Amino acid sequence: MSARRNAILDVRGLRKSFGASEVLRGIDLAVEPQELIFVIGPSGSGKSTFLRCLNRLEEPSDGSILIDGVDLLHPKTDINAMRRRIGMVFQAFNLYPHMTALGNVTLALRKVLGRSRSEAESIALAALERTGLADKARAYPNELSGGQQQRVAIARAIALEPQIMLFDEPTSALDPELVGSVLAVMRDLQASGMTMVVVSHEMRFARDAAHRVLFMDDGVIVEAGRRRRCSAARNTSARGTSCRRCSEPT
Ligand code: ADP
Ligand code: MG
Repeated sequence: MSARRNAILDVRGLRKSFGASEVLRGIDLAVEPQELIFVIGPSGSGKSTFLRCLNRLEEPSDGSILIDGVDLLHPKTDINAMRRRIGMVFQAFNLYPHMTALGNVTLALRKVLGRSRSEAESIALAALERTGLADKARAYPNELSGGQQQRVAIARAIALEPQIMLFDEPTSALDPELVGSVLAVMRDLQASGMTMVVVSHEMRFARDAAHRVLFMDDGVIVEAGRRRRCSAARNTSARGTSCRRCSEPT
């Protein structure tokens, strides 16, 4: 099956059942490179299940998922190789408490990519620097705020140089004053050209940063709204033309 033109992520007819209960009921979504897709919707509507299907933490019941043209669900597809291309950040940071920030990021590089210790450490330090934590590399999770811990988790994901990043309510566990630092890192990632699918309730961030906002309800996407002016509009050369990405006037 061929991917829709330009799609780095191409989901068609995605379904997922748990026993008799069908949680995803036919989701279609094509995401272009460098797009930031925002997903909102009530609790229990299937948002987390959808993200988890995108790297096969859940096994879809039906449908297809193409990542950069590769069929994620094909039995011959190397799922571990594909997972390296898809970074995931969860609400709970899932850091090892007995390892420093640097240790947590380094471990992923050594285990997943088989890097040597010294190579892994230099990549990890660069990733921590990108998330504003260079000075916290030697700190343990319990010495870090929730926002800093989530930024370590983001560093751990981006150190592996994924093509797509999935965020599942990355700021929901944070005290309000710590949310901004995590959103700022996500904003930076977007500016650097990362393709992102973000489940979040941060509507201001959605308005400012998302190219499209999807509303999920009861296992289907019921609404796909485009922002009036997406940030790609900044890339157009002249006012009065239309945005190359969303065709909205600039
Ligand atoms: P959301 O992230 O939008 O809150 P979820 O994807 O977590 O929704 O859950 C959607 C529905 O699927 C819920 O009814 C939830 O109880 C159910 N569900 C999620 N994971 C499982 C599972 N592993 N086994 C059975 N039911 C599940
Ligand atoms: Mg959820």
